[in-house]
Amino acid sequence: MPIEPPIRDAVAAIVGAGNVLTGADLAPYVTDWRDRYHGRAVLVARPGTAAEVAAVVRLCSDRGIPVVPQGGNTGLCGAATPDASGTAIVLRLDRMNRIRSVSRLDGTVEVEAGCVLQAVQAAAEAAGMFFPLSLGAEGSCQVGGNIATNAGGTAVLRYGPMRDLVLGLEVVLPDGTLCDWLTPLRKNNTGYDLKQLFVGSEGTLGIITAAVLKVFPRPAQTATAMVTLDGPEQALTLLESLRAALGDRLSSFEVLNRAQVEIVLEQTEAVAMPFAAPAPWYVLIEATDTLDRYDLREALENLLAEALDAGTIGDAVVPGSAAQAAALWKVRHSVSEGNRKAGYGVTHDTAVPLRHQAAFVRAVERRLAAEFPDGRLLMVGHMGDGNIHVIQMLGAAQAATEQGRDAAAARINRIVDEETLRLHGSISAEHGIGQTNKRRLLEARGEADVALMRAIKSAVDRKLLFNPGKVFDMAPPAGRGAH
Ligand SMILES: Cc1cc2nc3c(=O)[nH]c(=O)nc-3n(C[C@H](O)[C@H](O)[C@H](O)COP(=O)(O)OP(=O)(O)OC[C@H]3O[C@@H](n4cnc5c(N)ncnc54)[C@H](O)[C@@H]3O)c2cc1C
Repeated sequence: MPIEPPIRDAVAAIVGAGNVLTGADLAPYVTDWRDRYHGRAVLVARPGTAAEVAAVVRLCSDRGIPVVPQGGNTGLCGAATPDASGTAIVLRLDRMNRIRSVSRLDGTVEVEAGCVLQAVQAAAEAAGMFFPLSLGAEGSCQVGGNIATNAGGTAVLRYGPMRDLVLGLEVVLPDGTLCDWLTPLRKNNTGYDLKQLFVGSEGTLGIITAAVLKVFPRPAQTATAMVTLDGPEQALTLLESLRAALGDRLSSFEVLNRAQVEIVLEQTEAVAMPFAAPAPWYVLIEATDTLDRYDLREALENLLAEALDAGTIGDAVVPGSAAQAAALWKVRHSVSEGNRKAGYGVTHDTAVPLRHQAAFVRAVERRLAAEFPDGRLLMVGHMGDGNIHVIQMLGAAQAATEQGRDAAAARINRIVDEETLRLHGSISAEHGIGQTNKRRLLEARGEADVALMRAIKSAVDRKLLFNPGKVFDMAPPAGRGAH
């Protein structure tokens, strides 16, 4: 019987020795962005083509080696971090970063999954088009990760989350089969829409190697504004009136409470707020139009003047230049980094229907203030999509020990989940389940849903080798990891 080469040599024979990382080189890839999950891995493989991905995956399937797909490693639920067993291979697609084509007529861009999001935005822009997905990590997250997490970001209000932007995919299944579902078609009812299974699958069903994404006509004008107001009730009134007037032109409606803005100002260099005095809540608004025969900025100014007269908002700033608008967006995009530096926060990613949004915010504020008087309660998010991030920063004493952090997180999760589910919401609007939210999935979705998810997982990933321990637990078959 032939002797199998060690796994490192076998992978190197496929991707090249220079594209296999081991030992100390693994460090950045076995820890998550927030530094909360620490795993181990046999090696990191960096294939350069879909055929190489398929060959590595087939090898892993043959030898029973778990595979953890990883994009830019910016996910916020520990979904791209291998477990502590040290048996898995991390597959990174950063070498697969080619923009294959842009079609203005089809309104599509075809890209490899390792493309950094910003590079896709730039490629669309260079072709006179616009790719709308935008989020704070866009300089390092990758399209494959964006699809696998069904990322949201700041333009969902108009363009939808990543799921709405994907027309076609190329994927490698857990047995190494390469599936070419790359198409620019917008209508295709030939049986089940298999690509959609992979959107939001968090690396548990296989590897996405390329995608056809929608691009849109580039806006000819953009109007941005920041306003102050008293709270979510006023923000929702403003949202309703802006949507009624601007329709689909309204692309972003982002909220931040005062405590969140204060943390950004404390933790970030070169950011400033444009208002003389602090306010309880702030909204960052963006509207765009492909028509330039009228002045969108003036239209937004007029609408905000009406809101000021009606007492909905307290103050408003409408920047006159792209640089001033970028300075406002910097405040919003500095939130995750600022919070990471500020201490230990228990973060939620809640969606509730807009009609319940104010009730949700007020109930959570009241209950968390009563139980966590030493912490700071931050609220930030994509209110236009009904998606608010509740972040309870812990007081120093509670944050000091693992026991204190775990006990606080359990209680905060209970409070926020109770209010979320009572108001018909979702415990994860855009970040996913990963490791962080695994225990809460069952309560949020119910046994029948989770049983169906497990059945799909077993059918696609028969050896249960893909991203084990993420989304839900499934018992590994005996003998895994013998390599
Ligand atoms: C500063 C900051 C701001 C953020 N803002 C937002 C925001 O506004 N909205 C939002 O939705 N998220 C946000 N995020 C979270 C994160 O950026 C997104 O979840 C992003 O889509 C993850 O992409 P990634 O390439 O980093 O994926 P990773 O973190 O590497 O992986 C995430 C998941 O996708 C899987 N995966 C990665 N690549 C592939 C592939 N090719 N095939 C199959 N599975 C794969 C992994 O196994 C894992 O389960 C933010 C993060 C940071 C750090």
